[in-house]
Amino acid sequence: MKTYPKSNLHTHTAFCDGKDTPREIVLAAIDGGMESVGFSGHSYTAFDESFAMSYEGDALYYEEIRALQREFDGKIKILLGLEQDAFSEPVTKEYDFLIHSVHYVHANGEYHSVDESRPLVEQLVREHFGGDYYRFASDYYRTLADLVKQNPNTVIGHFDLVTKFNEDGVLFDESDPRYLAPAMEALDALLEQDVIFEINTGAIARGYRRMPYPASIFLHRIAQKRGRVTFSSDAHAKENLMFGFDQALHLARAGGLGSITLYTKNGWQDFPL
Ligand SMILES: [Zn+2]
Ligand SMILES: [Zn+2]
Repeated sequence: MKTYPKSNLHTHTAFCDGKDTPREIVLAAIDGGMESVGFSGHSYTAFDESFAMSYEGDALYYEEIRALQREFDGKIKILLGLEQDAFSEPVTKEYDFLIHSVHYVHANGEYHSVDESRPLVEQLVREHFGGDYYRFASDYYRTLADLVKQNPNTVIGHFDLVTKFNEDGVLFDESDPRYLAPAMEALDALLEQDVIFEINTGAIARGYRRMPYPASIFLHRIAQKRGRVTFSSDAHAKENLMFGFDQALHLARAGGLGSITLYTKNGWQDFPL
């Protein structure tokens, strides 16, 4: 059985909605024999501080991760990143990497979370999209398609997050063209740029889903168009730094991907599957 460098760049700490301190994460990563670990705190979003970093917290986070990089130099590759929401203020500091994600839709002058809870999503779709989940999803995908501006090696977070509460199709039919057409349009737009898609296992670790993002139909399309994919655990606790990567590997192979892109001590590298 082939082995791959152990790496995960999608990690949340107590600076946002994660459980552990950055130091606890680094120590767990070293313990687990990881080659690299990246921090991707939720970017400051003025309209919602419930799970993102505060304005002051963002500055402290930045300093703390930079200090850990110096302290652990030579022991593990630590990266300072940000999970940059589409509706956050533009990035003003230098980061080692960014994960671009969409967590909200903008409707009737307000921002609404798409991934906080199923009752909130139901309420949102009822009140702002006339009960039409396809219009809601297409709104999400339009934002996603627009968000990446020529950022080489940018990572796209959880491509189809909008399905988070749709296990077994309880809210809408994911094979319906009204869902698939805007999703594929967004995927194709992103594939035209040099982005890296995640196979993101975070919602499994937290008990929301059985399968990682994205759905296999999207993985097949990425494979077909020779797009790049990485593993990500979207860890909110140190126990989950490499959660579900065996399943992710299996899905990558089943999706027909020829290689996986991982962050090694020498930077991004492609590994044949
Ligand atoms: Zn996210
Ligand atoms: Zn995340």
